[in-house]
Amino acid sequence: MRRFFVPPGTVRGRDVALGAELAHRLGRVLRLKPGDRIVLADGGAVEYEVELRSLSARAATGVVVGQRAAPPEPCLELVLYQSLIRGPRFELVLEKGTEVGVSRFVPVVSGRSQVRPAGEPGRLERWRRIVVEAAEQCGRGKPPVVDAPLPLAQALRDDTASVRIMPWEGERLRGLGVYLRGLKERPQRVGLFIGPEGGWGPEEVAAARRAGVVLVSLGPRILRSETAGIVAAALVMHELGEMGG
Ligand code: SAH
Repeated sequence: MRRFFVPPGTVRGRDVALGAELAHRLGRVLRLKPGDRIVLADGGAVEYEVELRSLSARAATGVVVGQRAAPPEPCLELVLYQSLIRGPRFELVLEKGTEVGVSRFVPVVSGRSQVRPAGEPGRLERWRRIVVEAAEQCGRGKPPVVDAPLPLAQALRDDTASVRIMPWEGERLRGLGVYLRGLKERPQRVGLFIGPEGGWGPEEVAAARRAGVVLVSLGPRILRSETAGIVAAALVMHELGEMGG
């Protein structure tokens, strides 16, 4: 059954009214019909099974036929600072990172990024739609946040994560897993900084070090930026007990 996020308060009683955007997705895109069932999640503790009653281009209605506990969000807040890379590759990181459990994506403008920081109109909205749909599909309790792009220097100023790591292919000694397993306390929030296709420049690595970010290796093979973002996020989730058991 397809799941959809709706604003809090959308489901109050038995009857549910849905707005134009969701009605369009249900009727036009997914070709659902009255009688079909969907799941609505409003970010609260429960989610609702709803049977559709009517569908038009501008609105849809349904009735609640059941409810169940909403899936839990990870206990770990993983913030992925992903350097800007070409559109489809960046969007892959958003989709797969959401499935892996990233809480927040911060697109980073780095020295060797070959993508215009401003981008085409509507790019941020498109990115947000991608993470919402991925979160609906994979059963997240709520969709991750996607920030507007930031220069690396500004991203490094946010020190609210107790652990911040930057995978860098020049780091040969400290592996990401060994480093995380050696922490005395389990962090609540982890920041992960991934470079662009061309990698981090030496001055960026130095700035990260000065800001207290720890450089780590992902192993002997050089991963493309989008692979590194997805794989490093999965390794962090695994090492901190949020994935794979
Ligand atoms: N320009 C580099 C590769 C950049 S890979 C080169 O061609 O040699 C893009 C990003 O992925 C890097 O900035 C780093 O953050 C991450 N990355 C990829 N492979 C890695 C590895 N084996 N260890 C650590 N980080 C890696």
